[in-house]
Amino acid sequence: MREGKLYIGGKFVNSSSRKKFISLNPANERPFGRYQLGNKNDVDKAVQAAKKALPLWKKTPAPKRAEILFEVVRLLKKHKERLAKLEVLEMGKVYSEATGDVQEAIDVFEYMAGEGRRLFGYTTPSELKNKFCMTIRIPLGVVGLITPWNFPIAIPAWKLAPALICGNTCVLKPSSDTPGNAIELIKILEEAGLPKGVVNLVTGSAKDVGEPIVKHSGIQGLSFTGSVETGKFIVANAGLKKVGLELGGKNAIIVMEDADLNLAVDGIVWGGFGTTGQRCTAASRVIVHKKVKKELEERLLRRVKRLRLGSGLKRSTDVGPLINEKAVEKSEYYTQVGKKQRAKLLCGGERADMKGFFFKPTLFTNVKPKMRIAQEEIFGPVVSLIPVSGIGQAIRVCNGVSYGLSSAIYTKDIKNAMIAAQEIETGLTYINSSTIGSEVHLPFGGVKDTGNGREAGIEGIHEFSETKVIYIDYSGKLQKAQID
Ligand code: NAD
Repeated sequence: MREGKLYIGGKFVNSSSRKKFISLNPANERPFGRYQLGNKNDVDKAVQAAKKALPLWKKTPAPKRAEILFEVVRLLKKHKERLAKLEVLEMGKVYSEATGDVQEAIDVFEYMAGEGRRLFGYTTPSELKNKFCMTIRIPLGVVGLITPWNFPIAIPAWKLAPALICGNTCVLKPSSDTPGNAIELIKILEEAGLPKGVVNLVTGSAKDVGEPIVKHSGIQGLSFTGSVETGKFIVANAGLKKVGLELGGKNAIIVMEDADLNLAVDGIVWGGFGTTGQRCTAASRVIVHKKVKKELEERLLRRVKRLRLGSGLKRSTDVGPLINEKAVEKSEYYTQVGKKQRAKLLCGGERADMKGFFFKPTLFTNVKPKMRIAQEEIFGPVVSLIPVSGIGQAIRVCNGVSYGLSSAIYTKDIKNAMIAAQEIETGLTYINSSTIGSEVHLPFGGVKDTGNGREAGIEGIHEFSETKVIYIDYSGKLQKAQID
């Protein structure tokens, strides 16, 4: 079994709790790794180490910080296959998707390393003579990064890369389902030459590690990706820290009557069942024009029934396991809720008869917009078809949920596409492609209950820095803005 330690002040160390916990391989339920059960004491030490490393790191010129990030890129490329395999074994997603996850980390480190020679501020005229005004970007200080398990390399990378290029030092708490992946990333940062204490990692429970990070007075910024419930806890307990929240989704694909149905089916299968439905951007709702509902249903059913479950390491596997037993129970529970509320189950709806946390790809139709399966995030392979009679109703249904992360529309009519692009209340809208597929040079995040975060792109830099204004008065006399 793999063994993993905490990483504090540039050293891999044991927790002061002297306790450990185990992560499982979700495809066979066997122990995969044994990790340190960190506690508040460890968080304190990690924050102290990050605080100590801060002055030197923030004074290091950003292009020099970038050199380390470019080295991270080189090492991630070198270890891409090994990391992807590790991800399959600890998180369960299929191998090709795991390589995509590592690639996303490569992309974001490369993009943010490039920012080392930009980190643009701006200059602007002063209202007074002989005075000069400009802005620069400054780091927040010590930042706490709390991450989920579904992109166990990419999400820590999405936070670490911008945090580091901006000159922050970090305390990372990964999900207890996938600590091994985060530890591998830390090893790569160390090998790339990151100075001691700039990044620290504490594994352990939400209560003993997550909460002390959220409440810690030595931390100035928090970046969190996870559930709405935890997001609300963070807002209530983080005090005056700058907080970025990337929370859940209940994303929809709209299929209009003029859509290319083959293309739409491809997008629905990828969006609904890719990563076994465990993406924040998963397409868990399909809002379909009633004129093509029957045809879409038939085509989709044929495709979904053919999806093969299995270990993500097998080439023949289309859909891997869910992350853990609780996730299987959640998909089972929502299947019962859907049936009780009289949605029509077309296929799936039960755990697969095999070892591992497998749940059969599930399709419901005749779903009403207010049914719970159409409102609540299931985070499993469960897709609901909701019939509508036109673009206006489609948009209303799409917007009629508390979340606002991603959305898509399949149509050949530019008018429908533009209405969707402008009127859907989400952070991302795709035209004629699925709800997933973000690129790192564009911002990523949502609206409404999905939170306030914007990661990646230039907005990712803004999340991890503040704007500072500098006024230079070279008039040699007292000048009063708004008065002189
Ligand atoms: P989660 O909120 O249960 O846990 C996420 C992380 O927060 C874990 O490391 C966990 O230990 C920690 N945590 C939990 N409670 C905490 C607390 N009270 N204080 C501090 N830390 C705490 O979420 P999850 O089940 O790991 O992930 C699934 C959720 O993440 C889904 O809702 C999904 O949509 C969301 N997600 C969102 C995005 C996005 O970018 N918007 C991306 C991926 C996942």
